[in-house]
Formats: sequence, structure tokens, C-alpha cells
Amino acid sequence: MFKLKEHWQILIALVAAAIVGAIFGAEALKEAPFVKGATAVCQFFGDLFMNALKMVIVPLIVASIISGIAGLGKMEGFGRLGGKTIGYYAGTSLIAILTGLILVNAIKPGYRDGKPDERIKQAFDAQAELIAKDPAQFEKVTSASGRAEKGTKNIADVLKDMVPANPVKAAADGQMLGLIFFSILIGWALTQLTGDGPAAFKNMFDGLNDVMIAITRLIMKFAPIGVFALVVPVIAETGVTGVFQSLAKFAAVVLLALGIHFFVAMPLLLKFVGKVSPIRHYKAMAEALLTAFSTASSSATLPITLRCIRDNAGVSRRVSSFTLPLGATVNMDGTALYECVVVIFAAQVVGVEMTFGEQFVVVFLALITSIGVAGVPSASLVAILIILNSAKIPGLVPEAAMAFILTVDRFLDMCRTAVNVFSDSCGAVIIARTEGEEDVLSGGPGGASAKG
Ligand code: ASP
Repeated sequence: MFKLKEHWQILIALVAAAIVGAIFGAEALKEAPFVKGATAVCQFFGDLFMNALKMVIVPLIVASIISGIAGLGKMEGFGRLGGKTIGYYAGTSLIAILTGLILVNAIKPGYRDGKPDERIKQAFDAQAELIAKDPAQFEKVTSASGRAEKGTKNIADVLKDMVPANPVKAAADGQMLGLIFFSILIGWALTQLTGDGPAAFKNMFDGLNDVMIAITRLIMKFAPIGVFALVVPVIAETGVTGVFQSLAKFAAVVLLALGIHFFVAMPLLLKFVGKVSPIRHYKAMAEALLTAFSTASSSATLPITLRCIRDNAGVSRRVSSFTLPLGATVNMDGTALYECVVVIFAAQVVGVEMTFGEQFVVVFLALITSIGVAGVPSASLVAILIILNSAKIPGLVPEAAMAFILTVDRFLDMCRTAVNVFSDSCGAVIIARTEGEEDVLSGGPGGASAKG
């Protein structure tokens, strides 16, 4: 029987959700009991889907890293892989930030008719007044939607988190960096030991890895329903066009910059460094990209990213289990780009031209804070707040700018998360190719078969 490929099913669910969400969001229907009930049902199924994805993250990260590193064999391979991975993450994040920086300076979304945009400035001032009257208000806005949930940390905190005092607590708290570091250590220790005990221990994690991937496949069978349920309430709340009304020029700059990174920079790297077909890679990752877009969470998407990169792109377990879990946590090209654009945009609105030196500091902070941003929806807002606070832009109340930007954040978050996940996947492919994996995206059945 004819069966639509998974990514088509998800795409159709997305379009259907946009239509239903737009109907639910219509003025005349918004308050109708039926619409409220249906939206609540959607929220319930959306939460179920997110929970199911999150459910596999901890065991999957642990098992996939341990079995991947233990399979690396000697430490010299590990050092080389680590070096390439970090180099790729830093390099691509910098390319993304510079793309954003150039566009925001060239297009000046904070300006209107050559002058700082008064309308947006007034909106900032109105928000600032609200916050001054009731400081708890901003807290409410950010935390009500889980937006303050796990924000950003400074670099010292990030380093401290890497060595968790209690790995079980790190797992329970979703502290991925600590979990990754502990898993790398176990994997490393396994490469140093011989005998039946360590071998059996390693086999157990190989098995757990396979089991988690099988569960992920099962969860993805429900993806069209999950995606539909997640997106309907978002569109009903913000509206398809409402998303763009207030901050059209700003949103356009962000989307253009993200688009350049996604459609130009990444494919060029795939083509000339990875020496693979970018089109094949888009196809291989379609499911993961659509899930990233729908969930706005690179962490929740990780199980699907891993599955696509192994099953469809044919990257080995050795490379994928090292690069992808780390990438989902620390490599956020879209987020870094967004942070930079927001800060310079906010300065433009209040009529402050940032000097080259000041912009350089913003670039640096965007690079560093994007590492600490958690892979959950809207996590970068807290990073932006940190940069705005440290930039001390005269006349700007950082919280007010933030509260205003929240109106368009959700949609932009969906887009930047897809870019974050795509960059991770390109990294896995490029690193695998430089490690001599000839079969990656070679166009065999289903792209290429996964290797062990
Ligand atoms: N939602 C993004 C992610 O999970 C993080 C952010 O930029 O807010 O990748």
C-alpha cells in the first residue's frame, strides 16, 4: 500500500495546524468554549509528545556516548575527533554571528526613514513603564510560558556544570553538559580496560543505545499528531500574520540571516569541506528539521537527529554519538546569530550606534552564551538579557526590549532551532567524511545504510 514518507506526514500536519490554528485564533471564535476545549486537548497531546521525546534523551545520550567513545579505541582518535568537533562548532557559530551582524548593520531594522524607529521606541518605553510599576510582571511573562526555564549561565558556571558532583542529579535536572562529560569519562575508561567485565558493561550500553533508537522510531510514528498538537495553540495565540505585524523588519532580518546560514553557508561547507551533496543531506534530515521547527527544542529533537544521521545519512555511530549530543547542547548557530541581531537592533531603536569594539564584545558574548543556552524553547531570551545588561546601552531597559521581542519570539525560535539542529547534523557529516567515512550520503538505499 502507498505510504507517505514520515517527513511529508509531518509537513502536512504542520500546514493543517497552521490552518486550524488560524481559525481558532480568529476574533469571533477565540472565546468559544469549543475552541478553548479543542486547544486544551491539543496542548495535552502536545505535552505528551514532548514528554515522550524527552523521556528517551537521558538514556540515549548516556548510552550513545558511552558506546561511541568506547568504540573509538585509542585515545588519539578521541583527541582528533574532539578537536575537529570543537573547531567546527566555534567556526560555524562565528560564521552565523557575522552573517547576522552584517545584515543588522546593513538593513538597520531598528531604523525607519533613516532615524531610530519611534514606534518601536514607544513600545519599549511602554513596556518599561509596565515593568517599573510591577517588576514581578516581567518575571511572570517569562516564567509563565516556561521561558525562564533553564536560561543561560556564565562561562564559569558552564565549566562547573561540566563536572557534576552528582551525575544522577545532573541527569534528573537535565544538566546535559555534566551528563555528557560523565558519559565521556565512562567511555574513555572502557577503552583503557580489558577483560570480560568491562566488555559486558560496554555491550550493555550498545544494547541500550539500540533500544532507545527503537523507542524513538516508535515515538516518531506519532510525530504528525504531536506536531499538529504543538503548533495549533501557538498559531491560535499569535496568529499567522500577527507574528510579523509588530516587528516585521526585525523578523525579516533574522529570517534572512538564518536563511543565508541554512541555504548558503551550510551547503557550501557540505559541498566543499564534506564533499557531499547538500540536497541529499536536506532530504536525509527532513524529519529532524521539521521536528526541530515544531518543538523549538534541539534537545527534544536529539533522538530524531541521531536516527536520521545514522539511518538516512549513514554516519557511523562512532562519530554521531560523540558530535550530536554535544552539538545539541553547545552548538547553536541560529541562537548565536539571533542574540547578536537582537542586541544591535535594540541599540538602534534607542538611537545608539555601537562602535566596532562594542559590537566585537557582543559577537564574543553571543558566541560564549550560545554555548550555555539550553536546548529548550526560548532559552536564548535569558542569554540576550545577559548581553543587553552587560552592554549597558544608554536609554535602554533590557527587560522592556525583551518583553517586546517576546511577541515574535516563538516563530523565530522555531526557525533558529531548525538551524541549530541542521548545523549539528552538518558537523556530524563533515567530521565523518574527514574521518574517512566514504559511504556518508553516498545515495545508497535510503541515503546510505547506518554503520556500527
Ligand atoms: N530553542 C532553541 C533550541 O532549543 C534555543 C533558543 O535559541 O532559545 O535550540
